[in-house]
Amino acid sequence: MKTTLLFSVKFVRIVLTVWRGGKLGGMYMDDRVFLNFEQMKYTLSVLGKCTDDYIYIWDLKRDYYAISERAVKDFRLSESGFYNTGQVFRQVVYPEDFPKLEEDLTAIKEKGQRTHNMEYRWLDPNGVPVWISCRGEVVLDEDGEPLYLVGRISEIGKKNKIDKITSLYNENILKQYYQKIVEKQDICGYMMLIGIDNFKEINEKYGHDFGDMILANMADIIRKNVVNGESVYRMEGDCVVIFDYGNVRPGKAKELYKRIRSSIDESIEENGYKMFHTISAGAVYFDSKEREYGKLVEQMNFALHSAKLKGKNTFVLYDQKEYESYIRRLDIQECLRRSIENDFKGFELYYQPIMDVGMDTIHGAEALIRWNSEKYGYMSPVEFIPLLEESSLIIPLGRWIMETALRQCQKWQDEISDFRMNINLSFVQLQKSNMLADAEECIKRIGIDVNNVVFEVTESGEIETSQTTQNVLKGFKDRSIALAIDDFGTGYSNLRYIKEKMFDLIKIDRIFIQNIMQNEHDYILVKHVTELAHSMNLMVCYEGVETKEELESVKRLEPDYIQGYYYGRPMNAAAFSKQFFGRGA
Ligand code: C2E
Ligand code: CA
Ligand code: CA
Repeated sequence: MKTTLLFSVKFVRIVLTVWRGGKLGGMYMDDRVFLNFEQMKYTLSVLGKCTDDYIYIWDLKRDYYAISERAVKDFRLSESGFYNTGQVFRQVVYPEDFPKLEEDLTAIKEKGQRTHNMEYRWLDPNGVPVWISCRGEVVLDEDGEPLYLVGRISEIGKKNKIDKITSLYNENILKQYYQKIVEKQDICGYMMLIGIDNFKEINEKYGHDFGDMILANMADIIRKNVVNGESVYRMEGDCVVIFDYGNVRPGKAKELYKRIRSSIDESIEENGYKMFHTISAGAVYFDSKEREYGKLVEQMNFALHSAKLKGKNTFVLYDQKEYESYIRRLDIQECLRRSIENDFKGFELYYQPIMDVGMDTIHGAEALIRWNSEKYGYMSPVEFIPLLEESSLIIPLGRWIMETALRQCQKWQDEISDFRMNINLSFVQLQKSNMLADAEECIKRIGIDVNNVVFEVTESGEIETSQTTQNVLKGFKDRSIALAIDDFGTGYSNLRYIKEKMFDLIKIDRIFIQNIMQNEHDYILVKHVTELAHSMNLMVCYEGVETKEELESVKRLEPDYIQGYYYGRPMNAAAFSKQFFGRGA
């Protein structure tokens, strides 16, 4: 930047020197030649054509300013030559920067300052501020009085304004434009973020050049489809944003998305399906109330995120309620993280008794996690376990649960020597952590008999589809660590689990147990599953027995174990010890 600048100013001098003595020559001083204003202006206009900069000359005595013709197009100027510089500058200079500029110009006119060198902002025709670097030198008259200020203005950010791949303006420009147009006026409109689905995979599979090509193609198609004054900008990653305001009807964003999508489909077809891909969009409408730029971008990103979650290749309009619940979930996740980092503060294990039906005695307990958050109070595990799974925080917490439950089990073995502890495992633990080694190590370290530990795994598609999970489960089996299939009968029930003896214990879900009394089908189903399991030497536990009547009717089906509120709700260790052993934890 600096070299160009020095070059320009020097170049002016060279031209002036060459003209010395020539036909155009005017006043002389030292070894320099002085041109009259018109000659000077003409010279500079020629120079202006040879550079991307704007060349200017300012006649300080007459207060007349002339700048390269292009500046009229690029800035908020109505003419390239004008009097009353101060007034015009007020219109083109970003208001915040004006006082500083005024001070510098006064120093030139009145205090003998000979150079001007400032970086400040001019406004473009839309009123968007543009950083410029302005340098100039004062030309003195024969009395040593400032006569002209001659120099050049260059746009500092010009090169960084346009995205190289898509040739679109970048996000900074959108932000400036938006803040200027929307935040200061009472208007409505929308922003729509369009992203390429699976862009990461496209890049990985076909290389970045191919990815760039797809992005450029999408930008091109979008540009061709925006015909009603919408503007388009490149955002981070694979995203482009369309911004529209003014007379915007509801539904406009979605229609535009659909148009763009079919144009993309057509272009894919024309290219013989060489670059097959889909696009998703998230849009947010703003009105005079809700329109802060940062917020809107967040909301638009969320809408796009939802579109991706809904299976991609689709349009989603921002929904305030969904967003609030998303933000709440993120916040809960953060609280969970802090609790875990803070030595598991707020977590506590509860224990629910599991009764041996034949012996009519307590057989063991299921460990159930509880969380008392400082911010949210007690929250059901049904709500927070999925959040722990999503963030993989279930892995460190799961280790803590296993350790705490096994230590408690060991204590209770002082009361009942073969007291068993059932511990729930999430599929994330099976999938992502070294669950098998962790379990073995923990059992060994605590010194508990492996026969007194049961890991419960909830039925889910993961068991069916994930080889990793199946391998881990097989590992448990090989090491004679007992496994229970939890909530049997819901979701992905598979009799293969029984047939192949993948589990040692079948826990039949509360839904069936409750229905047994009213629904004959459920009664028969539970009866058969129980008989089938027993024929394979597997144990059966019924979950959720709440009343004496329920107990009486399920007992006829001869389960091995029963768990439910009838025998006891989940309770903390102290309450459990008191109720079942008549003493403290
Ligand atoms: P789950 O493993 O099926 O646990 C049994 C749930 O049924 C417990 O709910 C328990 O309080 C409830 N329950 C037991 N008997 C009855 C009854 O008679 N009537 C009724 N209405 N409910 C009964 P909870 O403690 O709220 O746990 C919900 C789920 O959260 C658990 O279902 C389990 O999937 C998950 N969970 C709880 N603790 C853990 C844990 O430590 N690790 C993992 N991975 N998941 C856990
Ligand atoms: Ca369970
Ligand atoms: Ca269960």
